[in-house]
Parts: sequence; structure tokens; C-alpha cells
Amino acid sequence: MTLPDARIALKKFFGYDNFRPGQADIVQNTYDGKDTLVLMPTGGGKSICFQIPAITLDGICIVVSPLISLMKDQVEALRGNGIPAAFYNSSLSRADEQQVLQDLDNQKLKLLYVSPERLLTRSFYDIMQQMNISLFAIDEAHCISSWGHDFRPEYAKMKFLKNSFPKVPIMALTATADKLTRKDIVNQMGLRNPEIFVSSFDRPNLSIEVRPGQKRLQQIVNFVKNRPNQSGIVYCLSRKNTEAVASKLRASGIKATHYHAGLSPNMRSEVQEDFINDRVPIVCATVAFGMGIDKSNVRWVIHYNLPKNIESYYQEIGRAGRDGAKADTMLFWSYGDVKILRDILTDPQNASDQTELKLTKLERMRHFAEAMQCRRKILLGYFSETMATDNCGNCDVCKNPPQRVDGTLIAQKALSAIARTQEQVGINILIGILRGSNQREIFEKGYNKIKTYGAGRELSLFDWQNYIMQLLNAGLMEIAYDEGSALKLTATAKSILFDGKKIDLVKPAVIETRKAAAKKAVVAKPKRERVRDELFETLRTLRLQLARVRGVPPYIVFSDKTLEEMAAKRPATDAMMNEISGVGERKMHLYGEQFKNAIIEFLLKKEAAGEKVQGSTHILSYALYKDGKTIEEIATQRDLKNTTVSGHLAKTYEQGEDFDISMFISEEEIDMVLGMLHLMDAPYKMLDVFKYFEEEMSYEKIRFALAHYYREATVE
Ligand code: ADP
Ligand code: ZN
Repeated sequence: MTLPDARIALKKFFGYDNFRPGQADIVQNTYDGKDTLVLMPTGGGKSICFQIPAITLDGICIVVSPLISLMKDQVEALRGNGIPAAFYNSSLSRADEQQVLQDLDNQKLKLLYVSPERLLTRSFYDIMQQMNISLFAIDEAHCISSWGHDFRPEYAKMKFLKNSFPKVPIMALTATADKLTRKDIVNQMGLRNPEIFVSSFDRPNLSIEVRPGQKRLQQIVNFVKNRPNQSGIVYCLSRKNTEAVASKLRASGIKATHYHAGLSPNMRSEVQEDFINDRVPIVCATVAFGMGIDKSNVRWVIHYNLPKNIESYYQEIGRAGRDGAKADTMLFWSYGDVKILRDILTDPQNASDQTELKLTKLERMRHFAEAMQCRRKILLGYFSETMATDNCGNCDVCKNPPQRVDGTLIAQKALSAIARTQEQVGINILIGILRGSNQREIFEKGYNKIKTYGAGRELSLFDWQNYIMQLLNAGLMEIAYDEGSALKLTATAKSILFDGKKIDLVKPAVIETRKAAAKKAVVAKPKRERVRDELFETLRTLRLQLARVRGVPPYIVFSDKTLEEMAAKRPATDAMMNEISGVGERKMHLYGEQFKNAIIEFLLKKEAAGEKVQGSTHILSYALYKDGKTIEEIATQRDLKNTTVSGHLAKTYEQGEDFDISMFISEEEIDMVLGMLHLMDAPYKMLDVFKYFEEEMSYEKIRFALAHYYREATVE
């Protein structure tokens, strides 16, 4: 097998024109019969790396995967593309199991997904001896490492694969990139001189935003209302919050549900199925949700609370936008969250030799949330990757760079209030004092009598919270978690209070101005980049209907990314439809016609309403012609000249659409025109040809002859 074969299969089965960086080399390595280790982020395109060899090589590829729900999904997606695949695990009924065994016997399958438990059974070993195995693909290969978070004892027993099938190449794949895990995989699988491919962990299609956690519920409602019909996940720390957020959303007329480990297994799988099938677009969940989900059209992920470390955070936001289309992520954070997480970690009941490490990781997470530099740069840096620029253009800091102001007076007010209350107050009371609030505790303790009471009235609660956060970060004060979170002054604080030291602070970006900035950014983008218009919605609805009929999740029919491209390019002919990324042969056959017709109908409706259908006008004429209308009828319906309409048809023909043109021009006439073209200079002008034939050949015929000529020229 060679790469050109691989490329043909990529187009035919998946409808993709090109491999993503790394994929082709990985495929080639397998063709060379070598072992491979693939490190790619979630959504990076790992599956293609073993699926293409599986399809193109003789025999069958065995895919080991620990997540049963994910297997079903992947097999469904493969079958949707016309690739014979099956899974073999404990969830199969007797009858289905027999069917799989029979298909194996008849060598009907190109891929078989098995759970590690099944792989290790004697009976499966015997079956494998009978098979012609092209490749072993070990998905989620990090499960082999006992250091990692997903350790699976069965994975540690898989060395027998290399020993028993020394000639079959192995490809191990994971989204966990650390060096220790890498080494474990290579050693424990017994990989021989493996080629290791590490792709970038950047996910440029994900926008990253961090916001202070105030009025979260209201902010979430607004966020969701700005994204109608989009699917998303809200991650919460507590079960109670998942329920609270879901009911708040429902109260605002938004369809949402909740998910946590306290639900019955039945309820949990129901929520999961509803989400996958777009019946319930939004799930508010604890982090257990999403692990075994391959849903590619999750359009946003919100963190209601700060995650416990950057690894988890990156994995969770990674569940958005797996199809490569734009997706949004938003993280809320507050000191309260840090405190709760810290309390959990330092609770003696949870004490372990990992506690220190976990606290350090939490600190890194907090630094990320507070950071004033490009968030993507920090994330990639955390995973030991350097970003070429300082500005990713797709995080809140890059979109809305922080403005610095002289914050000395602000700092002095806050620090002095802390000093005057003998360092006994926490953040809330401190702000209450500064803003002159009449909270009961302030009066009880007599804080209303100190000099700084009401000294910061001019600033909002929001601003004060933000500034105090910055003062904490600048090391001017500390939170004494063991004294009810009272604020304490540091040595640096004293130099600001007494020695006239100055400090710069960042002006809190008001959420409204953030919104305005975001809006500006959207307008400034090229118009076609993010097409979520009326046509997109029409196509989305059609997708949902077709998915229901076939009993598969909508993203199995077409991904959001594919629909976006259709909405942008409006493919109203078969040739155009074939060019859309994600439309392979099988999907063209199953759905091409219906999506094409929906687009034609949409364009006609637009035109009837007086809108110009730019770029598609010739295709519309063609669509009507195919529908059985004559040139004259089309011209009347669309208020065009007859020659314009036949020109449209010629242009469509030229672009590769197949239809009989003999009623416009005979073969002899085509030959006559083509025969004289070498006497002229390209580009050929209709008028020149017209004159050459001494006005005996009509413009319409010449137009068609030239269309024929250019059509053939591009085919070559
Ligand atoms: P992973 O397993 O690494 O999380 P997937 O294999 O599910 O990622 O791929 C993520 C998405 O990217 C899928 O929708 C997949 O079809 C798409 N994809 C993969 N390779 C390509 C490619 N070469 N061109 C276009 N889309 C691709
Ligand atoms: Zn950035």
C-alpha cells in the first residue's frame, strides 16, 4: 500500500481531501510494518490514523478500546461511511455475538473493536489465530500506565500481543502526553523501535475565556441565549449545582438537564443518549460526564467552578468542537472555589502522598485563571509546548487586552482597612467596609466607625472583588485559610502603606464591554468563516430528521463542520456536493440528494423574496432545468433572458455537472468549434469564434462548445 491509495480511501470513505499534519506519516509507518505511538489531543484525528490502514490493507484491524459506549459510537460512524466494522464486548446480545463471529469467519469486517477483557480471553485468542490481522490499534493507550489516572489492569497484560503476533504492527494512541506515560506504553506493550509521533496539543478552534464567578447563573443564561440550538455542557463541582443550573436554564425557557453519579444507571444512560441524539442540547454535569462520549458537535463547554488542575480543565474543554468547527469555552472562577478545592484536598480523610502535588497543581490552575497574558500560551506551555506568537487572537486576554491604571490609592484603601480591623476580616466584609455597606456584622463589630468605612464607595462590588484578587496575586495580602479566610498583610503591603511604593493594577473589564469587544471581533472576521445562518438551520433540521429515520445521532449523518461548509458554499449540484469535506461516497449516496434539494429550495425562496443569490445563480437555473422546466419557463420564472439561462446551463456543464447537451449543440458542431480553437489564442473569446464561423454558428452553441472544451481541459 502507498500513500496515494490512502488518500483515495480518505476521500472515498470520509470525504476528506487531505490528511491532517502527522496522519500521513503515521499511516506510512504502519504500511512499512512498524510499530507506532501516536500522541494527539482529543479531537486531533487519531481514529483516521488506524482506520485508513485498516481499510486499505488486507485483513482486519483489531482495535482495543476500554470504553464500551465509545466503541458503539465509532462503529456506528464507520458504518455510516460504508466501512464494515463491528464491536465485540459484554454489551452484545447472544444473537449479535453470533453474527459478529460469523462475519469474522466470512472475512467481512475491516475493523473489530474489542474490550481489553475480551481480548484477554482464551476463546478470543483462538479466534485471533484464525484471522488475518493487519494491525493492532490500542486506543486510550495511557490506561496501561499505573501512574496515570485511568489505569486498567487488563491493559498491563497486553504484552502477549507482540509475543504471539510478532509480525503484526501495533499502533498505540493516546491524548495524554507526559513522558512517563509514553515510556510505560512502549515498554509494557513491548513495542519494537516504535516511531513516536507527537502532534501539537493546540486546539485553535476552541475559544478560551475566563470570567470572575459573579452572577454566574445569569451569565450562563445570557451565554446560552446567544447561542440558540447549540449543544453544550456546564461542568459543576457539586451535584446540587448541576441541578440548580439546569433548573435555572429551564426556568429561562432553555432545554437542559442534569447528570451526576447520584442518578441511577438507567437515568444516566438516558441523559447521555438524549444528549448524543440532540434531544436535550444542554447537560449540567459533574466531571464524570463526557468521558465515553464521542459527540463531535458539542459547541461549548462552561466550567461553573474552577477545575482541580490544568490537565482536567484541558481535557474537559477538549470535549467541545471535536469536529474542528468553532467552539466556545468559558471558565468561572473565584477564591471561594479555590478554598473549597483546597479544603477537600487538605481534609485529613483525603490525605495521601499525592496531596502536595495536588495542591501545587491547584495553584497552577489558579495562576492560569488569574493570568493577564494569552491563555493558550499558558496552557500549551504547561504541556511543554511553545507557541510561536504571544497572541492567539482567540482567548479573552488577546481579544480584549488588559488596561493598566495606577492602583496605589485603591491598594492603600484596602490595605488600610485590613490593618484597621486587626486582620480579622475576609474578602466579603472587607468589601462591605470599603463600600460603606450596612451588613449586620459590620455594625456589630463596630467596623462602621473605622476611617476607611465607605472610602471605596465609588467602585462597584464587582470591581472591588477584582482588585482584591489582583492585590492577592501581587502578594500584598494573603488568605489565612486556617483563620476563617481572614486577610493578612504582607511585608510588601507595608511598603505601599507607609513607604509610598506604587502599584499598577489592571482595570476590570466590565462584562458589557467584553461583550462589545467580542461582537466587534465577530464582525471583523471574514464573513464566511462562521456560517450559522438560516440555511445552516434548515440543513440542521434536515439532518435531525434523517438521523431520526435512521436511528443514529445527528453528527453521524454529517458533522457541524460539514453543515457549515454547505451553508457557506451552497452546493446545489452533485459535483459541488462531492467537493464538501465530510461527504464521502456512502454519505453522498444516502443523503446527497436531500441536502442538495434543500439548498435549491432555499435559494429559490430567497430569490422569490427579491434577494440576489450571488454565485449560485447559474446553478439555480440548472436545478430548475433538471426539474423538467424548459429554458423559456425558467427565464419567465426568474425574470431573465433566454440566452442568460442557456448560458447558465453551459456554465454548470463546464463545472462538471453531467447532463445531455445534444439539444443545444450537436457533436459535429462541437468538433467544428474545437477544431478551429488552435488557430486562436486562449482565453478564447466568443466574438472571435462567432466571426470565424462568419456568424453562422449561434452564440448559444459557441458557449456550449467552449464549456465542453474547458470541462474536458479541467478533467485532465
Ligand atoms: P480523536 O480520536 O483524536 O479525539 P477523532 O479521530 O474523533 O479525534 O477526529 C476528530 C474529528 O476530526 C472527527 O470529526 C474526524 O472525522 C475529523 N478528522 C480527522 N481527520 C481529518 C482530516 N484529515 N480531515 C478532516 N477532518 C478530519
Ligand atoms: Zn490568546
